[in-house]
Amino acid sequence: MKPTQKYPFDKALFQNNVKRHLNATYATTVEHASTHAWYLAMARALAELTMFNLLETEQDQRIVKAKSLNYLSLEFLIGRLTGNNLISLGLYEPVAEAMEGLGQNLTDLLEEERDPSLGNGGLGRLAACYMDSCAALEYPTVGYGLHYEYGLFKQSFENGQQKEAPDAWQGIEGYPWEVARPEFKQDIGFYGHVEVNYVDGEEKRHWVPGMLIQAMPWDLPIVGYENDTVYPLRLWEARAIAPFSLESFNNGNYFEAQHALIDADNITKVLYPNDNHEKGKTLRLMQQYFHSAASIRDILRRHTNAGFSLEELPEHETVQLNDTHPTIAIPELMRIFIDEKGLSWDKAWSICSRTFAYTNHTLLPEALETWDEGLIQRLLPRHMEIIYEINRRFLLEVSAKWPGDVSKQQKLSVIQEGFHRMVRMANLCVVGSYAVNGVAALHSELVKRQLFPEFHELYPTRLKNVTNGITPRRWLKYCNPGLSDLISEKIGDQWPSDLAQLQRIANYADDTAFQKRFMAVKKENKERLAKWVQENMNITLDTNAIFDVQIKRLHEYKRQHLNMLHILSLYHRLKTDPTFDMQPRVVFFAAKAAPGYYLAKEIIFAINKIAEKINSDASINGKLKVVFVPDYRVSMAEIIIPAADVSEQISTAGKEASGTGNMKLALNGALTIGTMDGANVEIREEVGDDNIYIFGLDIDGVHELRSHGYNPYDFYQADPLLKASLDLLLGEEFTPGEPGKLRATYDSLLNGGDPYLVLADFASYVDAQQRIDTDYRDTAGWAKKAIMNTAQMGKFSSDRSIRDYVNQIWKLTPVKR
Ligand SMILES: *Cc1c(COP(=O)(O)O)cnc(C)c1O
Repeated sequence: MKPTQKYPFDKALFQNNVKRHLNATYATTVEHASTHAWYLAMARALAELTMFNLLETEQDQRIVKAKSLNYLSLEFLIGRLTGNNLISLGLYEPVAEAMEGLGQNLTDLLEEERDPSLGNGGLGRLAACYMDSCAALEYPTVGYGLHYEYGLFKQSFENGQQKEAPDAWQGIEGYPWEVARPEFKQDIGFYGHVEVNYVDGEEKRHWVPGMLIQAMPWDLPIVGYENDTVYPLRLWEARAIAPFSLESFNNGNYFEAQHALIDADNITKVLYPNDNHEKGKTLRLMQQYFHSAASIRDILRRHTNAGFSLEELPEHETVQLNDTHPTIAIPELMRIFIDEKGLSWDKAWSICSRTFAYTNHTLLPEALETWDEGLIQRLLPRHMEIIYEINRRFLLEVSAKWPGDVSKQQKLSVIQEGFHRMVRMANLCVVGSYAVNGVAALHSELVKRQLFPEFHELYPTRLKNVTNGITPRRWLKYCNPGLSDLISEKIGDQWPSDLAQLQRIANYADDTAFQKRFMAVKKENKERLAKWVQENMNITLDTNAIFDVQIKRLHEYKRQHLNMLHILSLYHRLKTDPTFDMQPRVVFFAAKAAPGYYLAKEIIFAINKIAEKINSDASINGKLKVVFVPDYRVSMAEIIIPAADVSEQISTAGKEASGTGNMKLALNGALTIGTMDGANVEIREEVGDDNIYIFGLDIDGVHELRSHGYNPYDFYQADPLLKASLDLLLGEEFTPGEPGKLRATYDSLLNGGDPYLVLADFASYVDAQQRIDTDYRDTAGWAKKAIMNTAQMGKFSSDRSIRDYVNQIWKLTPVKR
């Protein structure tokens, strides 16, 4: 049975399969099974259907021979698969009915799935959206990632403070959507030394690793939207080669024998929880090499099995590096070519440098990866030699272009000189890739102008832009069925695979009846969220209030503390100015802070404390509520986004590379309040000035302000509302009996120099929020703006992003099944 239009769904057979899994896989019976067991059995039965198509896709000779994309990413933040795959399979209704026949409610079953949180935030979610689009558009693709035992930590709050707990996403029964592929396992080396031999007087170097670790692949099915294509997301798990060394065991050295097991298991034990911040830990570099080496060998295995020569690699495989995390794949491929396959350096480099392409995700200096030369030397001695040789040859190019210019050499070198010499992974990527892209128009301009101006001069066609996108299947059709049905009623149901069609609902933006229905859907979604908040957080919300939403990782550059200051300003005015009137508003936050990020955690604590006080202060008549939703993750985003009226995209100009949360929210009819940063700039171009609230300094303004020497005290002294708002953090207003407990943010903004210009943008932000308050009162006017946002989001489908990659970079041809 295949789950396609070609082969109809057989309800009775499916029900039997579910029951069979209940019995045979999960050892329970129809009479005794829990809801969770029913979910597992259903998901297993569905996974079986997709595995059939995965194997058929894998063996389809047209695909085997075609050019494929290999998407290498340390993170894939896929979210729950069951509901989304039901949509892609076109089986949502039939399976709901089949499960109803078994006495089970599909919505309840779907709630049983735990999110596979195998990513931190935007970068990992982007990888997931791109896999979805590649499958929808049928560009042959394999996603390569890591099978972490623990994904991103689970977050809870204890007296307002973030607590982290491990996320065992597979559950004790195992994740029903994955299948092990032991036939593709690999052994991956670490440490050891380089051996030198002479063959016919020629020096041959090769690496003798000191330790081997097994890479076991697990495949998750990426199901194409309403087609027969299923691509693998292949996740590598680290295992000890043997349970223990027999030799040491027989010597009676049992503990030493177990040691290998302990080391090996560590490599894919846990996802590093840093977003936009690199820490240079050995185990992290081990993860990176483990991922790169296993993936590169798998790619070569597929390429060779297809009957192609090494020289033909760039015609058949392209490797996209999602940020610099898989950079070590470049010297790894060089090493295999030269040391194992006997190719010359020039031949190897010619192939390599036409195979890799690199996506830059950030300009933040603390996020640009550099690795200690000594660490690479110890862990991967042969790779370090190859990096030196890549750099030596590259610097010859630099000195040919700029003869005698030592500063150019120092700036562009892959090796950063200093007390500890460091390897600059971004430089290695630019040198070793045939294309480098930024992730939004503004960001790509800054990559050319600020980050890599000399590279741009040296390689004038290499730097490109591909603006990020999101999959409309998950982020509208699946998460917002009410709005999806309304749209389909007006413009037909083809928009999920051709999002530009949404433009046609702009024709209804002035239609009063349509406005009412659009806002009625929004109201239902707000009620669904309010119900969740009532049940899970015991806070009662008024769904007539403006639902103002900021959901993203907690980071100073994203400026949750600017939003917090606005809340303080509203509270101050409500308490002190009897003439002040405002539209009721609920401000939602959801955000995880990296466990070691002190100020981010202080900001979470402050917002939680402020929320506690404001939510229980009867004197403000419920005009203002603050809700910090714990444990932000994809499935939480799916509930919050459809319910949002206002989308907070308020990063300091020049800091947010693109953002994708901004796209998801606008697509669901939220109006953006945002800076001229990342993809906000392009969202504004699409929706027009009337349908977005732009505020604050742009990149030129930021530059100008800093060039005169920014002093946050100037703003503090000059603006009484800002001063009053900030001063609220000093007393005991929100921490009775414990004055000053919230002063970390205050100190960072005033004494710490306010590195992200929060105070400079405050007045302009408050003003934009005031305009929102006024505009929201005009119900029809607001409805029109919301409709125009949904209507104009076609550009931000990840299908468009993937087509941009294909046309500008990958040059793939779809294989329709
Ligand atoms: C979309 C998404 C992000 C990225 O949000 P930004 O606002 O672009 O930073 C992060 N986490 C989750 C769970 C998401 O769905």
